[in-house]
Amino acid sequence: MMGRMQDISRETANMRPRALDSGPLAPDLSFVIPAYNEAETIAETLTRVSRKARRLVLHSEIVVVDDGSSDETLELVTSGQWDLPVRLLRLSRNFGKEQAIMAGLRHATGKAVVILDADLQEPLRYVDTMLERYREGYEIVYAVRAHRDDESWLKRRCTAAFYRFLNIGSEVSMPAGARDFRLMDRKVVDALCALPESNRFMKGLYAWVGFRSLAIPVELQPRGGGSTKFRFRELLRLGMTGLTAFTDWPLRMWTGIGMILAMLSIFYGLFLAGRTLLLGHAVPGWSTLAVAIFFFSGIQLMSIGVLGEYLARVFSEVKGRPGYLIAEDVTIAASSEC
Ligand code: UDP
Ligand code: MG
Repeated sequence: MMGRMQDISRETANMRPRALDSGPLAPDLSFVIPAYNEAETIAETLTRVSRKARRLVLHSEIVVVDDGSSDETLELVTSGQWDLPVRLLRLSRNFGKEQAIMAGLRHATGKAVVILDADLQEPLRYVDTMLERYREGYEIVYAVRAHRDDESWLKRRCTAAFYRFLNIGSEVSMPAGARDFRLMDRKVVDALCALPESNRFMKGLYAWVGFRSLAIPVELQPRGGGSTKFRFRELLRLGMTGLTAFTDWPLRMWTGIGMILAMLSIFYGLFLAGRTLLLGHAVPGWSTLAVAIFFFSGIQLMSIGVLGEYLARVFSEVKGRPGYLIAEDVTIAASSEC
């Protein structure tokens, strides 16, 4: 048994942090685990991951990103005894899962990196398969949900519609059931870290970077404890980030809609003129007018709203604020020598 050591170093916020060098001494495998209020499951997750990693490869590390938890997640990680070195990054507040993943990827030093949730939903036996496929030459091996039976009918329909919209006119295809749970080669991680955008929709970016990818179907488990962090509001926000980052047709379609409406109004004008000529002077219909005003105001507001969504993202990118800030960067040495 080796005494536990804590090497505490603080990292100042870097506007554009880059991935660390992964030299010949780099671990074979890094596990990146984003955790936000996961006190009920984090200890079990780390125990299982350490056990699994030690069985799979010679050298590995765990990078836990505490995404501004307000429960005991942080204390449980720092005070625990783990079989592997655990690097704990505490973000200065809750920045969302996408940013937590990026923080983890930028600090993982492994030759390959596995992203895993902290809620025990993703069985670790799939990491074996991912590693096998990786060794066969795939650069990304990612999990897709084998089914969505655990989700409500409405959520399934909304997800399907979202991915249909997302894939319209997109240069890459973003699969609907893909998870963040995946194994990626160092090349892929470096490519993701080098992308400059800070509004990130990871499932789109994984597809965008390309590389030899393979999907493996996974059966998810129910959460080991706690509750989902992605309720309607968070899903909506993530959905808007995805749409604005990967589509431009919602911006462009207004030209077409405008042209169609203009043509229709010309025909309607001609029809009214003809009717007046044939049947004499008609009493102007205020209801037609009222409906037209409401309709066109609605259309205009909608198009301005869409414009606003894109502009908001452009504004946020122009400000150049980093996607996350790291408040603490602690490495907890393994409790026993391998
Ligand atoms: N998560 C995070 N920051 C957030 C929300 C979630 O780091 O703002 C983490 C969370 O702790 C978990 C993973 O992302 O490890 C997936 O979250 P969750 O299980 O709530 O999502 P679901 O499985 O319900 O889609
Ligand atoms: Mg979950």
